[in-house]
Amino acid sequence: MAILVLGTRNRKKRQEIEEILGDLGLTLDDLSMHPEAPEVVEDGDSFEANARKKATETAIAVKQWVLGEDSGLVVPALGGQPGVFSARYAGTQGDDAANNRKLLAELAPLPEQKRDAYYVCTAALADPSGHVHAVVEGRCHGRIINEPRGTGGFGYDPYFLILEYHQTFGELSSRVKHALSHRGRALLQLRPILRHLLK
Ligand code: IMP
Repeated sequence: MAILVLGTRNRKKRQEIEEILGDLGLTLDDLSMHPEAPEVVEDGDSFEANARKKATETAIAVKQWVLGEDSGLVVPALGGQPGVFSARYAGTQGDDAANNRKLLAELAPLPEQKRDAYYVCTAALADPSGHVHAVVEGRCHGRIINEPRGTGGFGYDPYFLILEYHQTFGELSSRVKHALSHRGRALLQLRPILRHLLK
């Protein structure tokens, strides 16, 4: 069975990727099985640059096919912030509560319609030599609300309202989230490529 290494140390993100791609019949390794994998410095100025970097640097180290994924929240009214800095918007990597507090504070002076936001997910697939064979992107549009709703998902999800559903990603089931989300949409495009390259 073909092995695909998921090049992320974000447990929630990894779980979502496993749920989305789990039926493909691939062995999905995570980085805890690969201590030789480097801590990739996310210094790219775009989601794509970071996704490519994660895929290439990890693949070269672990000598396997690797899926590099970079994602985040974009608020046009905030000039695109938090963007590629989504995981460390308030300063500390992965501090979701602080990131959400900062986001709400930045949005507080703005009118309702300026709270529109979208998630972006870019995924890059690299072969064991680090060569990138595919890059895909998915987006999902919503609006940032003031009070958290629901406990599902992670990161900004309890504040990310899907207008058509009147529910946040914190409230919607993971199945519905994956059908609508940036990650689900990006990885949907990767499925035929994975089937073809890793059969
Ligand atoms: P990365 O690990 O550098 O790609 O950063 C991803 C960050 O973007 C996460 O830590 C979250 O803050 C945010 N993010 C990305 N995808 C999601 C999602 O599906 N829900 C909530 N937050 C997300």
